[in-house]
Amino acid sequence: MLQIKDQLKQLKPYQPGKPIEEVKKEYQLDKIVKLASNENPFGCSTHAKEAIQAELEHLAIYPDGYSAELRSELAAFLQVNEKQLIFGNGSDELVQIIARAFLDQHTNTVIPSPSFPQYRHNAVIEHAEIREVPLLDGGAHDLKGMLAAIDENTKVVWVCNPNNPTGNHLSESELVSFLDQVPAHVLVVLDEAYFEYVRAEDFPDSLSLLNSYQNVIVLRTFSKAYGLAALRVGYGIASEELITAIEPAREPFNTSRIAQAAARAAIKDQDFIQSCRQKNEAGLKQYQAFADRFGLFIYPSQTNFVLIDFQRDADELFNALLKKGYIVRSGKALGFPTSLRITVGTKEQNEEILTTLANLLEGIRA
Ligand SMILES: *Cc1c(COP(=O)(O)O)cnc(C)c1O
Repeated sequence: MLQIKDQLKQLKPYQPGKPIEEVKKEYQLDKIVKLASNENPFGCSTHAKEAIQAELEHLAIYPDGYSAELRSELAAFLQVNEKQLIFGNGSDELVQIIARAFLDQHTNTVIPSPSFPQYRHNAVIEHAEIREVPLLDGGAHDLKGMLAAIDENTKVVWVCNPNNPTGNHLSESELVSFLDQVPAHVLVVLDEAYFEYVRAEDFPDSLSLLNSYQNVIVLRTFSKAYGLAALRVGYGIASEELITAIEPAREPFNTSRIAQAAARAAIKDQDFIQSCRQKNEAGLKQYQAFADRFGLFIYPSQTNFVLIDFQRDADELFNALLKKGYIVRSGKALGFPTSLRITVGTKEQNEEILTTLANLLEGIRA
């Protein structure tokens, strides 16, 4: 009998959303709008596409395992030291590397809940004790509760800022007061996957906090605002000592040549990011106006998605939208059974889905 790690038996493989082609066939639709995975509806920079094209000449050659060029360009862009960076096959892989480097059966980890599921998933695989701390009403991290959950066996505390799936953020003063109270033996992971979309002026300048807190790592990604989700490239920023310590847990060729080339080009095209930020902000306003009109609670979002509480079964609403050709995320599986998480799309996509939702809601009322 094969004897797989016990803790794996309680995990389900990642459930991908229904493939677009399948939904089309099932409901006889010609068009599907997918606003489910917080992908960039405007794609990626054309410079990134050109860089990918050029890289196709070199596919027989292994990538640079140190990502030297991407590293030095990103370090210059972020104004950090090159040795303060680690690259991952998406920031997902950095979550895995951190869990692998810090957690085992003698340790525990503190996780806000609901939040990004990969923190828990990887901690379970490493057999760590999971200490989930519920979000406060309104979706903010319960930082007091998280501090109270920390003890001498706590190795990692996860902070998702802005939080997925609620979209709201912690301010610099909240975060600093938290970091001041976290013991030095505990790693604080600041997952900033939506950093490029943030508008709030009180959002933490996490990179300068790294100078004062040696126990912090910031995670960012090229998957969201940069529009390169398919290529899988994310990065961590921390003190040189911390990065050097976790590097052995990284696979040597974990980011591809194509991903490195595309990321380099994408960083240089900040106009693209600015334009996506502006369009996203306008899109958020479309959703806010809709929520106001129907008296629905919308979590205050600093991201490219919204979580709206419809006060009714999320799966039913999800299915009604699916039949009309809109794929969103039901809050059921995310810990918000009466809410939908919808990625902010193009202006037209937002208009369409909101009209469809308005009709559904009016139909229900009538
Ligand atoms: C999307 C997302 C990630 C993962 O992004 P990668 O594609 O793996 O870089 C990490 N954290 C949060 C909160 C996310 O929403």
